[in-house]
This record gives sequence, structure tokens and C-alpha cells, in this order.
Amino acid sequence: MDNIQVFMRIRPLSEDEFRRDRTTESAVRMLSENTVSIPSQRTENFTFDFVGNEDCTQQDVFEAVGKRAVEQCMQGYNGTIFAYGQTGSGKTFTMQGARDEFTGPDDELRGLIPRCFEYLFARIAEEEARSGGRVKYLCKASYIEIYNETIYDLLDPMMRTCAIREDIKKGIFIDNVSEETVQDPNEAYNIFMRGAHSRHVSATSMNRESSRSHSVLMLVIQSLTQTEDTGLTEIRESTFNLVDLAGSERQKLANTSGLRLKEAANINKSLSTLGNVINSLVDIGNGKSRHVNYRDSKLTFLLRDSLGGNSVTIIIANVSPAVCNDAETASTLRFAQRAK
Ligand code: ADP
Ligand code: MG
Repeated sequence: MDNIQVFMRIRPLSEDEFRRDRTTESAVRMLSENTVSIPSQRTENFTFDFVGNEDCTQQDVFEAVGKRAVEQCMQGYNGTIFAYGQTGSGKTFTMQGARDEFTGPDDELRGLIPRCFEYLFARIAEEEARSGGRVKYLCKASYIEIYNETIYDLLDPMMRTCAIREDIKKGIFIDNVSEETVQDPNEAYNIFMRGAHSRHVSATSMNRESSRSHSVLMLVIQSLTQTEDTGLTEIRESTFNLVDLAGSERQKLANTSGLRLKEAANINKSLSTLGNVINSLVDIGNGKSRHVNYRDSKLTFLLRDSLGGNSVTIIIANVSPAVCNDAETASTLRFAQRAK
């Protein structure tokens, strides 16, 4: 089984881009169902597990990406879905959806997160019923933001900062982070939106854009099984992470100073560390022995136990089809190709 999968999603051309480009022609050339190139950037060909063009729906993305991730987590494996791409490429649209409120399962534009919640709780109900009461699932949600290599708890009204700790038994965990028990998709979505709202408000009051931080929604899924013979309870636990990454556009370090410089340098560093970690995992998957530098950024250190091993890692490379964005698109595809 392929533990790292890469999906590319091309969003529709925006009106602004059309005004700039004066053409509806896409910068991305489809060479086959899952191979593309950017002719204007003279790129090589890129092949991914799945390529969705502007007609790709939210349901298509869920079918291609979300379902399997949820299934794996139900089986006890950790899973992580990353949305990668330049600001405006569709990361939040893909993960959260088009709107800031949840209008329920009839909203076709809702993203992966609400769809995964719906599917997860439906599957849990199914498994619990099938077991005749012997299996119980318990889900807890945390939602954090990583800005400038600091972790903020988005579910705490004060957005307190938290530290990552390591424990021999527990592995990596965030000390003192809010964990909220969730029992149905609505509850989970409301918690998620509460965090998203805090994130937005604090970014505005601190005069920075949320495109400069990573957000990580973590769902801990526990299953408690009563064994027939001994009556003991067996606990299995997995973590499902849904990550909306900082914008991947080249951060300019020239003519920048102070906080902005630090911010830009941290984004570059954490995204390049993520690329290196994934690259090392691919090499390991191919039988090479490699050291994985999880500790080089907060993001990769936090996700250490969910990357590699038996975990499922999915990268969604979001791109714009516009000619004016072709260099960033090529750079996103190069990043994503490293995971293959
Ligand atoms: P990012 O989070 O990467 O900065 P957004 O998700 O906010 O980008 O998307 C930028 C804009 O493009 C938003 O207005 C969003 O609704 C729109 N958009 C993104 N992807 C799609 C898509 N697949 N179909 C329609 N609109 C999209
Ligand atoms: Mg966004």
C-alpha cells in the first residue's frame, strides 16, 4: 500500500486572473488523466495519484481522499491530510469549504473537514451497532495554529500558547491543549468553526494574515472493545490531522525586517522541512535508510507520530490555472512531486 499519496487540484480561473491574463487558457497542460506540465515554465511532467481540474467537485475530493483516510483511522492508523499551495489557490476551500458557516449535508460546497466528520460518525455508528454494544468509540478534537514556530490553542478563548512534549508511552503530544469530546458531525463542525473564528479575529487584531500560519485540526479517535472471554477493555487510538498550511508563495526576505522577516523565514523553513521529511519517508519506503529531521520545525515535530510508519499521509497540492501564477504553480508541483 502506498502510504503517501499526492492529489493535485486546479481551481477555476478567478475574474481577477482573467482580467490579468486576458485569456481563459490554463497554464496547466493535462497530458493524461494524472500527468500534467506547465509549458510556460518549461517544466518536466508531473504525475500524481489523482488530478482534479476545475470541474472537480468537493464530493470528488472527498471520495478520492477523505474516505480512505477516515477508514484507515477507524482501523487504528494515524492519518494526515495537508492542503499545500500558494495563498488563494483553494486550500481553505478544499478543507473547510466555500462558506464560513455549516449549512449541513445538503451544502454541496462544504469541504473535506465537514465531509470527514459526517463519514466518521456514520461509520462509528455502524461499527458500534455491528458489535452489539461491545465496541465504543470516543472522539476528541483539538485545534491549533502554528505561527512563527509558536503553537496557539484555537479552542481556548485566550488562545494560550502550548508546548510540544514527548513521552515514552504517549509519544508526541501538546501539553495543556484543549481537547473537546465530540459525538456528532455538527458538534465537531461547530468546534472547528469556533477555532477558525478565533484564528481570524486574532490575526486581524495582530494585523497579520492567516495565510502566514498553519492550522491543524486533530481528532483523536479511540475505540474501546470489550473482549468476550476476559471482559477486559482493549483500547486502540489513532489521530487524524487535517492541516491547512501557510501560503507556499516564495516569501521575500529582501527589504524585510523585524517580525515580518522572522515570519517569512519561519514559513520557508517549516514548509521546506515538511518537504524534506516527506522526501526522507519516500526514500525509506523505497528501502533506503535515512534520518528524518522531524525536529527542524514545530509542524513536523508535532506530526511525527502521524507521518511515516503505518500512517497515511495525503498531500493536496492546490493550484491556480492562471498564467500569471504559473511560476508558483510550477513550484507547488515540484514540492508535491518530491513526495512521489
Ligand atoms: P487559500 O486558502 O489557498 O488561500 P481559498 O480557499 O481561500 O485559498 O480560495 C481563494 C478563493 O478561490 C476563494 O474565494 C474560494 O472560494 C475560491 N475557490 C478556491 N477553490 C475553488 C474551487 N475549486 N471552486 C470554486 N471556487 C474556488
Ligand atoms: Mg486559506
